[in-house]
Amino acid sequence: MNAGHRSESVPNASRLRIAVLAGGVGGAKFVRGLRQVAPEATISVITNTGDDLWLAGVRVCPDLDSIMYALAGVNDAERGWGRAGESERVSAELAAYGAGWPWFTLGDLDLGTHLARTSWLREGATLTEATARLAARWDLGVSLLPMSDDPVETHVVTEQGTMHFEEWWVRHRAALPALAFEQVGADRARPTPSVLGALASADAVLLAPSNPVVSIGTILGVPGLRDAVVSSSARIVGVSPIIGGAAVRGMAAQCLAAVDVDVSAAAVARHYGARVDGGLLDGWLVDTVDSAVVPELDSEGMRAVARPLYLSSLEQSAAIARDALAVALG
Ligand code: GDP
Ligand code: CA
Repeated sequence: MNAGHRSESVPNASRLRIAVLAGGVGGAKFVRGLRQVAPEATISVITNTGDDLWLAGVRVCPDLDSIMYALAGVNDAERGWGRAGESERVSAELAAYGAGWPWFTLGDLDLGTHLARTSWLREGATLTEATARLAARWDLGVSLLPMSDDPVETHVVTEQGTMHFEEWWVRHRAALPALAFEQVGADRARPTPSVLGALASADAVLLAPSNPVVSIGTILGVPGLRDAVVSSSARIVGVSPIIGGAAVRGMAAQCLAAVDVDVSAAAVARHYGARVDGGLLDGWLVDTVDSAVVPELDSEGMRAVARPLYLSSLEQSAAIARDALAVALG
């Protein structure tokens, strides 16, 4: 890979088909960068729906909405979730009635999204169709694809009982030790035709620097989806969500502990596994502070590359996406 020529455009970009597996915020930042470096490519973002829930009568899809708002440029970047310029009048009314969860704010603008989605689902649309109708309002430049149209809910087993992932994360700030994660409904779930089509036709499959357990792990846990990824004729390249032994932000450290995986770039790579060894990865990007693991990962059959991995600006995200793509296409 020639990291010195960042201004070069991606070869055959207009015919390129890229499939990305992504969670919410990490996924959104990576995909913004990818869209910037491959604006003519067909980019399909296969998104975790395990965080979805019914609340106050509406269907909330946190990861789909994080990506949609970020790509539309209407996200609240400072707060890290929801819409910019948000107000909370409806939420205050719901709290006064004791409806919903008092610790899970549904902003007024955000509620517009949830109401539109819920009305279409009630009319019989699939989640894929409802997501496409929401996305049509914005100029996203990618296809936003729920991993499944069947409901899958991530639940967290703790000593204080089992709860929805969002209750563990938002209410308890991931402070209750997670003993295990369960994917309720996964046994009956199927990947959508759009997801299977995107994987079958992909020239590159990229794993965003998303949570390996409750974002990427949940996507791969949909029966048949992991096989569809591995069956792709394209290379599969991931970006480490762990830098220097820490999740930059978010709850990946607490999640990895529950599945007995060390919080390190190398341990997450081995958790996914080398494709030559029955795992997923052909390539893996680690941060420069983790460059010492490059030779060992290479010798285990993953093409490892060290480069700065902080998604601190659009330019940084674009440079990371360009390098991931270069490993996948190189
Ligand atoms: P969520 O669904 O909103 O939690 O978002 P994702 O699952 O897509 O991404 C969350 C994960 O992204 C975190 O657990 C971190 O490990 C990782 N992450 C956050 N910021 C950065 C960053 O700047 N660089 C990299 N490489 N990873 C990051
Ligand atoms: Ca999420």
